[in-house]
Amino acid sequence: MIAHAVPSLPAAGNRDAQALWWAARARQSGYDDVDTLRAHLELPPYRLAQIYRAAAKELHDRFEDLTVLPRSQRESLAKHLRLSSVHPAHAAHSGDAQTSKFLFALAAGDRVEAVLMRHRGGRTTACISSQAGCALRCSFCATGQGGFFRNLTSLEILDQAVYVARAARAEKRSLSNLVFMGMGEPFLNYDAVLDAVAMLNDPHGFNLGARRMTISTAGVVPGIERFTAEGIQVNLAISLHAPDDELRTQLMPINKKWPIAKLMAAARAYVAATRRKVFYEYLMLGEVNDRPEDARRLADLLGGPLHHVNLIPYNATAARYRQSEMTRMRRFQNVLHERGVPTTVRYTMGADIAAACGQLRIDQAAAAL
Ligand code: SAH
Repeated sequence: MIAHAVPSLPAAGNRDAQALWWAARARQSGYDDVDTLRAHLELPPYRLAQIYRAAAKELHDRFEDLTVLPRSQRESLAKHLRLSSVHPAHAAHSGDAQTSKFLFALAAGDRVEAVLMRHRGGRTTACISSQAGCALRCSFCATGQGGFFRNLTSLEILDQAVYVARAARAEKRSLSNLVFMGMGEPFLNYDAVLDAVAMLNDPHGFNLGARRMTISTAGVVPGIERFTAEGIQVNLAISLHAPDDELRTQLMPINKKWPIAKLMAAARAYVAATRRKVFYEYLMLGEVNDRPEDARRLADLLGGPLHHVNLIPYNATAARYRQSEMTRMRRFQNVLHERGVPTTVRYTMGADIAAACGQLRIDQAAAAL
């Protein structure tokens, strides 16, 4: 096993990032496992370490650029192995130049999107997808309207981040944050997401700090429970969006399966076990969930320490909802502040290229490129 051949630090959740990477690359390239690949390509362990480093850390995606390898080996590797599992099919850039959206073609013909956000003040965030489509059918979300296609592999998740990081680097920016807020529900593709997190976090590889990553869930309670036990410092965000079951079920059908009481119990257990804060996402839907009374009930729900509420302006993607007015958002925020709930109003990025949260849905015209 490569885990023994190549020493590396234990990655997030005790997953060995380099072993995961090679096992997945081997499968992607049609080998049963990494030993078969090594034997076939006659690669000694130090070559594996070099290739991993070149791809995951230095962000190379073409063997011809791997000048640490002899030319003949580069040529033979290029024939048998691929360094990326996602292929850019289309890119769009917002008018204010703050946001870029990338559409990727995947091996089986599916497509997903990722977003690069250049924040004022220097932060650079990648927003990546965990599934092609989504099965949860939240009534306000564009991805959900299109239905579910399939889970992404850990490599397809990682490679989106690598691609976005490479695009950032071309502008002399380095990725400071990464959020699983693109298409899909990360906790319904748990293992691939956590394997990707381990690879992203590996100090010998992509090297993004765990605290710089955030997994956002619509409220998959068993996923929150497993995540609590991981012992990693990746942030947890919960898309709450409503202070009571009746409204939340209307907005998010998943609430029938895991209603608010169960969700909040899992969140409290997470805080107790990890002493880490939970971020609550609350989408501001005009005159649906944005009354002061909703804010009061939301504050009552949260209780206890270690939470933060992000109020998200709605990017109108479904005809039946509209954005909450700024005065109503501010009033809502004030009610939460009066009750001691730390709250941030997020500002919208990339709305003009449909690259804001929840707008990621492949339109066929773009997909045909
Ligand atoms: N399935 C996960 C992660 C993907 S969605 C989750 O539900 O958290 C990422 C965030 O974007 C969620 O908070 C989601 O509710 C929000 N979102 C969805 N549609 C949106 C829209 N049209 N405008 C703004 N935010 C939206």
